[in-house]
Amino acid sequence: MSDRYAIEGGHVLTPEFEVRAANVLVDRAAGEIVDVGPDVTADETLDATGCLVMPGLLNAHTHVAMTLLRGHADDKPLDAWLQEDIWPVEAELTPEDIRIGTELGLVEFIKNGITGFADSYFEVGEIAEATEQSGLRANLCHAFITIGKDEEAARADAQEGLEIAREFEGRADGRITTALMPHSLTTAETEYLEEFVPQAREHDIPLHFHANETKNEVDPLVSEHDKRPLEYADNLGMLTDQDFLAHCVHVDETEIDLLADRDASVIHCPASNMKLASGIAPIQEMLDAGVNVGLGTDGAASNNDLDLFDEIRDAAMIGKLARGDARDVAAEDAVRMATEGSATAIGLPVGQIEAGGTADLAVVDFDAPHLTPVHDYVSHLAYAVRGSDVRHTICDGQQLMVDRELQTLDEAAIKQRASEAAAALVERAE
Ligand SMILES: [Zn+2]
Repeated sequence: MSDRYAIEGGHVLTPEFEVRAANVLVDRAAGEIVDVGPDVTADETLDATGCLVMPGLLNAHTHVAMTLLRGHADDKPLDAWLQEDIWPVEAELTPEDIRIGTELGLVEFIKNGITGFADSYFEVGEIAEATEQSGLRANLCHAFITIGKDEEAARADAQEGLEIAREFEGRADGRITTALMPHSLTTAETEYLEEFVPQAREHDIPLHFHANETKNEVDPLVSEHDKRPLEYADNLGMLTDQDFLAHCVHVDETEIDLLADRDASVIHCPASNMKLASGIAPIQEMLDAGVNVGLGTDGAASNNDLDLFDEIRDAAMIGKLARGDARDVAAEDAVRMATEGSATAIGLPVGQIEAGGTADLAVVDFDAPHLTPVHDYVSHLAYAVRGSDVRHTICDGQQLMVDRELQTLDEAAIKQRASEAAAALVERAE
């Protein structure tokens, strides 16, 4: 088998967000695009007639194994939902559950044109192995929580987070990178942040954490420390250009300026923020201030699917509602959040459809009634395309899905095993 194949007969979305008719020549071994143009061809081809070749989407904040909890509990505020429904079931999760839950999530990612993700959970070894097998890219971390634990247990959890970050960095031929995750500014206490954040810096490990998600989380922090949560985080050295903060719903102007100043990234999770009634993040204000914004689905239990095209549409829709201005969070801005915004945030490459570009691609089939006519491809990507319109998914030059058939994972077997594991899990928890 030659190392090269041509994606033929479609249109391409260039890094400048221009759309033109062109074929794409991919080198498998290099994981790169060799050439883009109307006459580019190879012996092996991948049909893209009626399709748009675009960068693969990057899901910049998720808890992928939570697919097993999809639809287990809905319609409750965040605190009650976590304490009454999610944490009791999570306490029963075995490494095998996390493996199959992850595999199910990875199937969903590939079917929705997602080529990379940033995850935080536990049993990271299982998540890393499943990711390696799938052919996807990921930034992985073990979320540590210190609150409600004695000192020994709290320190051990944080230490585990640090060790996992060091152990898994560079796995899967470099497709896996890592971060240190203090779960949030309220669930990881000051003394542990003071101890472990400098150690992350020493080893050049980025931070990924939940920040300013709900008012219930922000208000006690402000009373305790007499400053805004992100000022508190900044004093602890937690806002650098490597770091990415999930949610940032309740941030004020000072905090937006601080994020821009420090070049820290925000991961917008609009569906989760709406479902848990957490609030509306001031995304247009962040974009105007120059803050880098990526997009994430969060876990499948608060979304409830892992379709980032939904997130693009939600980001654009709620972005307009936020200030009552239909010009806010325009189509191109929302699509950029899910591609280059996420890539900058989590430090993984983004597909670039040009010679020398990374071959991480989603080939979207526009031959569908809900995508007809095509006045503007980018408008459709933001407002009308669904994950199920993705025809082929390519990561690092490898074809992970061809004509909606997965090439690296057994979709039917994974769905079957995940359904069985989820039923047994909920039974144990009850
Ligand atoms: Zn989360």
